[in-house]
Amino acid sequence: MKTKLFCGCSSDYRENEPNEKICPVCFGLPGTLPVLNAKAVEYATMVGLALNCSVAGRSLFYRKNYFYPDLPKGFQISQYDKAGGVPIASSGSVVVEGKKVRITRIQLEEDPGKLTYEGTIDRSTYSLVDYNRAGIALVEIVTEPDIEDAREAKLFLEKLRSIVESLGVSNGELDGAMRCDANISLEGGARVEVKNISSFKEVEKALNYEILRQRTFSGNATSETRHWDERRSITIALRSKEAEQDYRYFPEPDLPPIVVDQGKIAKVRKAMPEVSDAKAARYEKEFGLSSQLAKELAANKELSAFFEESAKLHDGHKEIASLIVGELSGRSSATRDAITPEEFVELVRMLESSSITRAQARDMLREAFRTGKPLRDLVRGKVGSAVVDEGAIADIIEKVVAARPEAIAEARNDKKAFNYLVGQVLKEEPRALPAIAAKLLERRLRGK
Ligand SMILES: [Zn+2]
Repeated sequence: MKTKLFCGCSSDYRENEPNEKICPVCFGLPGTLPVLNAKAVEYATMVGLALNCSVAGRSLFYRKNYFYPDLPKGFQISQYDKAGGVPIASSGSVVVEGKKVRITRIQLEEDPGKLTYEGTIDRSTYSLVDYNRAGIALVEIVTEPDIEDAREAKLFLEKLRSIVESLGVSNGELDGAMRCDANISLEGGARVEVKNISSFKEVEKALNYEILRQRTFSGNATSETRHWDERRSITIALRSKEAEQDYRYFPEPDLPPIVVDQGKIAKVRKAMPEVSDAKAARYEKEFGLSSQLAKELAANKELSAFFEESAKLHDGHKEIASLIVGELSGRSSATRDAITPEEFVELVRMLESSSITRAQARDMLREAFRTGKPLRDLVRGKVGSAVVDEGAIADIIEKVVAARPEAIAEARNDKKAFNYLVGQVLKEEPRALPAIAAKLLERRLRGK
């Protein structure tokens, strides 16, 4: 999304100096009024639908009051799910490795500013504030306590990231674009929230640390908010956990309710890109691909588009898919643009009819990428040269047999020895077709 949730400031701030992308609205100056970004509502709806939630027809913004330097207004505009409040989406689920993780709610809110501490958070004598991030649209996704260990948490987050990325609503690669607060409670113990976890790898580490800490804690853990110190790989107590009443939630009087009617939901659903999971499942069913191949293809937007174009032109779907994943996936999109699905399919057809070998197909693709020559010309050139004539292959067979005369007798009775000789022929002439080499060798062994 190009702009912040309630003002026209750019949400692309990462290359900027601190406090360059701010205006009176996101800086929280008195007398300013927020104006809701319609795109944010559309995106939040999309995330809700992708996570199988029900989307509220009408939801309100609330003020969550707290006094902290990252929040210049003294409150965060967020949503609230109690006292008559409803979040924009709720009651969804995500399946991670066969296990269902329930989504409690998704709420639309503004991001606070970013605090930078001198040294560590617990010892720092001052902190610096950057409001470039203040006011950027954020969806908070809250799950039910269905996640049982650190590994599951990591898998869940990875899944969430792939969904959000295939929707195109956020770039999870960007620093801080996806953040996680983890709540941990051991059976019978209090709930501890760990904040400031920067990456999925760190989530796993922080959770493992916190589980161990609470287990070995003498007495019960107290309800509190802790900070994950990445450098020292420990959690530090920040403050005792605020109770909800501490935030003094009340409806935001400066904004009208968010309205997402059925027509809008239908429109968003229609425009919504297929998420990677659904795409992979469809590839398995529709094209008979293996689940691994389907997953790899579906994970990449451009490759899957190329696959679908190619699959329309030719039925050899498995061959098309494996050649795409094997040969095209590591290349930049600019390089890939050099070949068209039509040319690609022509190559696959030749491969299937054994007019060329897999090694030759690979070579032709690589040559097309390297030289920029049209793949079609390369393919036709190869057909024209008839892939090494039989006479030439027969000569190579003579050479191979002459080098190992004893192999003839062996090959007559032993399939393995026979295949070995075919292998030797192909080693001499990689462009030879294995079927032709085998046919000619057979003939030679029968003394014809
Ligand atoms: Zn602004």
